[in-house]
Amino acid sequence: MRKEGPPIEEGDLWTACRCGRLFRLDECWVEDADEQQTVYYCPSRKRGGCVDPVLIVSGNERTPQPGAVSSFGGWVIRNPFEVIIFTRRRNSWSILPANP
Ligand SMILES: [Zn+2]
Repeated sequence: MRKEGPPIEEGDLWTACRCGRLFRLDECWVEDADEQQTVYYCPSRKRGGCVDPVLIVSGNERTPQPGAVSSFGGWVIRNPFEVIIFTRRRNSWSILPANP
């Protein structure tokens, strides 16, 4: 969610991991596969754990994978777990259903 991105920041998005940990995206281990794709991993990956991505964000120029239908501010998001979007500035929250 670099570049122009959606009007929501990484620190507004919470997700969970298989290991049971709950964290914000700005705490994640992040790998930019290329300009059009950013992959988020559990913070535990830093210590050699949790190898599965928790969220993948792709630019819309990239053809989405079959089943990847969450379109979000022009980005395509694949999330194996529910994502909670909590926007402090607007004091509102919503849930992005899991979309593995
Ligand atoms: Zn984990």
